[in-house]
Amino acid sequence: MSLFLIVPAAGSGSRLRRPEPKALVPLSGRPMLSWTLEALAEIPFETTVVAAPPEQKTEFERLCGERAVVVAGGETRAASVRAAFHSLRWSKDDVVCIHDAARPFVTASEAARIIDEAQRRGAAIAATSIVDTIKKVQENGVIGTLDRTGLFAAGTPQAFRADLLAEVLATGRESTDEAGLFELAGLPVSVVVISRFGFKITHPEDLEIAEALLKKKSE
Ligand code: C5P
Repeated sequence: MSLFLIVPAAGSGSRLRRPEPKALVPLSGRPMLSWTLEALAEIPFETTVVAAPPEQKTEFERLCGERAVVVAGGETRAASVRAAFHSLRWSKDDVVCIHDAARPFVTASEAARIIDEAQRRGAAIAATSIVDTIKKVQENGVIGTLDRTGLFAAGTPQAFRADLLAEVLATGRESTDEAGLFELAGLPVSVVVISRFGFKITHPEDLEIAEALLKKKSE
């Protein structure tokens, strides 16, 4: 059994309001992608594939060096993951772990728990419980309150048996995450609750939180 890692890193990060692609935004002086790769470095992945914005592929290759193979990403996260997966030479019992470049505070032990679960059950995802009351809103007005029971926020890492991932990707269906494709195919997906440090850096204030966390870690 081999393990593979796919890191979708081809997003522009327009919500961060920065000129560089999100994965290259510096955190404590180093690109976000470096922190993310380092966080998972102790897991013995056979190959790590990073999906980069096509026009910055060379820059990403320089940054990743020996740590990862770089492929050109697509228009959407799903297309980036698809491109990365198609570059892999996997066999039946292998497991593919997918982790967003924009979540640098993942821990290797969280990823290992998700990978173990995927090996046993076929598919597993990182999730956190919903702590806020969730409102459905239309034109700035509340039109309803969702029942929070059983609601979780799904993130990454997500890990899958390679043969099953190939099967659901081949359906050509669309989903904002790969677990969604398993659900559409009626396949089970296990949930592994991880720490809130697994948040996705999305808005400018997330960068401030990330900087503060790294400062605390270095002290
Ligand atoms: O845009 P969002 O923050 O949801 O992206 C999640 C992850 O997917 C990021 O690491 C981003 O770089 C990646 N992504 C990608 N290709 C895209 C869009 C996003 O690899 N076209």
